[in-house]
Amino acid sequence: MHSITRVVIIGAGLGGLLAGALLSKDGFEVTILERMNFIGGRFTSFEKYGVPIPTGAVHMIPHRFGPMKTLLIDRLHLPVELIDAGRPAILDQSGEYIELGGGGAAKLFLKSIIGNKRANRIMDSIYEFSIGLRGNEIPLSERIAFMNLIRKYSHHVTPKGGVKSVIDALVETIQSHGGRIRLNHEVNAIDMVSDQFLVHAKGERLPADVVVANCSPDIIPDLLGETHRLLGMKFMKRVEDNHPVNGIKIAVVCSHQVFPRSIVFTPYLKIISGFSEPTVADPEMASGKHLILSHQKLRPGSIESQIKRAMEDFKSIITDFDTSCKTVAIQIFRGEYPVNRASQGADFEPITKIPGLYLVGDGVKPRGHIMTEGVAKSVEIAVDHITGGLAK
Ligand SMILES: Cc1cc2nc3c(=O)[nH]c(=O)nc-3n(C[C@H](O)[C@H](O)[C@H](O)COP(=O)(O)OP(=O)(O)OC[C@H]3O[C@@H](n4cnc5c(N)ncnc54)[C@H](O)[C@@H]3O)c2cc1C
Repeated sequence: MHSITRVVIIGAGLGGLLAGALLSKDGFEVTILERMNFIGGRFTSFEKYGVPIPTGAVHMIPHRFGPMKTLLIDRLHLPVELIDAGRPAILDQSGEYIELGGGGAAKLFLKSIIGNKRANRIMDSIYEFSIGLRGNEIPLSERIAFMNLIRKYSHHVTPKGGVKSVIDALVETIQSHGGRIRLNHEVNAIDMVSDQFLVHAKGERLPADVVVANCSPDIIPDLLGETHRLLGMKFMKRVEDNHPVNGIKIAVVCSHQVFPRSIVFTPYLKIISGFSEPTVADPEMASGKHLILSHQKLRPGSIESQIKRAMEDFKSIITDFDTSCKTVAIQIFRGEYPVNRASQGADFEPITKIPGLYLVGDGVKPRGHIMTEGVAKSVEIAVDHITGGLAK
């Protein structure tokens, strides 16, 4: 039995659930408070027209051997299958698909650094699709770390059944180890009373020895009130400078396969930077149909015109679009539901200056770790600190 047992997790997104699964499995008493009426945040899906339309993620995990695989398979032993459908491709100017291997990506990266225009354009589509930013908006050290991690962790995989299968498996683990998940419970304050926290939600005050925050890091000072000063100046500067990353995603269902690979980067389209076709990896995901998910940066100016240009991009690639496809969702990610809660390279740290208070999620991505790999790595650091601290 641990001397510290009660953990309250703010948010049932992927970060909160990964932390909840690891800690509940390790004997902690876990309660997850989620403000929405569903579990999974931006990493789950809703069934519509017989296909799983994601709330965020395009049914893809960035690396075959990254922190997501480490936590889901090696540490939690979840019954989740990660399908490797091969490397991504680039749709070149000539209309040809070119496979993007680790070596090819490294060469493109180096060429882009020395100012090669084609390489720059391709790298921008990769960054924009994966990170929501152009190369010149990401610190060079972060881009180098990202490229090194592609070499180390390899290319993407698709969870069989889509992202919700991961969430369902995490929930099952948490609940089977006595953890609780409470929906419609928005946390609006955290008090610190002697050596414990009191987490306020829905008129209740839950005592906790450890708080893991999966919400946006920049709301933490408001939740803490006066005590926020303990977070330190660096934290407050991060809050002041924080710019979540925004994007537009369009989901289309098609009667036939469109792309040769499950991820295709499109540097030469008008506005879309890339597509995911998860049904290339898992044909059973959409009952025989194909799901195509586009992603693009949300630019300043008219959203309607950006959507219009995106639809033109779709039609330039799928020439029989009007007869074989149906647009099933157009989603704008910004404000409280962004692409990333902190822009790549400007992330918060998982371990705060307040003992017992931890941050996880995509506002806390360690260097070079993108999307859910950053979420998983932040969880690994926080959970190992919590459990390691107790072991001492
Ligand atoms: C369009 C798009 C495509 C993407 N594609 C991919 C992809 O294919 N692969 C990939 O790896 N990543 C992808 N990502 C990124 C990925 O979806 C996110 O990094 C990941 O889901 C973030 O998880 P999280 O737990 O950090 O945050 P969230 O999913 O946002 O979870 C945070 C949770 O906290 C809750 N919360 C917030 N405040 C409070 C409060 N005060 N009280 C209680 N609860 C609160 C929220 O409601 C939410 O449920 C994509 C993102 C977008 C937007």
